[in-house]
Amino acid sequence: MAELTNCPTCDSIFVKNAFRDVCEKCFKEEEKQYDTVYAFLRKRENRAATIPTIVAQTGVSEDLVHKFVRKGRFNIANFPNLGYPCDKCGSIIKQGKICENCSSTLRADLKTFQNEQKRAIEIREKEKATYYSNKD
Ligand SMILES: [Zn+2]
Ligand SMILES: [Zn+2]
Repeated sequence: MAELTNCPTCDSIFVKNAFRDVCEKCFKEEEKQYDTVYAFLRKRENRAATIPTIVAQTGVSEDLVHKFVRKGRFNIANFPNLGYPCDKCGSIIKQGKICENCSSTLRADLKTFQNEQKRAIEIREKEKATYYSNKD
């Protein structure tokens, strides 16, 4: 779905779509930076480079490197130290939106929530039962 929005990088107005989250000009700029990072990583000795090393060596911003990784632009299996920050705690992850730690916390929270809901329903059912039995 096309949507007019401001480019997050340069603030000019552009049409956002599934493939493009910055304007044409910035997209081209990002692609150039992608090429730089890719050329760097293609060298065998750079395969295990960490993100801070990539940033220092290529001059590409950390956010942009994260973005490329998040979008699956690199074959992560070949680059053991590539990743992007967890949405919740910022630790480096390789897939999904949040790290294992945060997702287990989230699962625990969800369980607590579900248990509370179950209890609330049980209480309501009991009240209903009492109401109907009183009516007879
Ligand atoms: Zn732009
Ligand atoms: Zn996390």
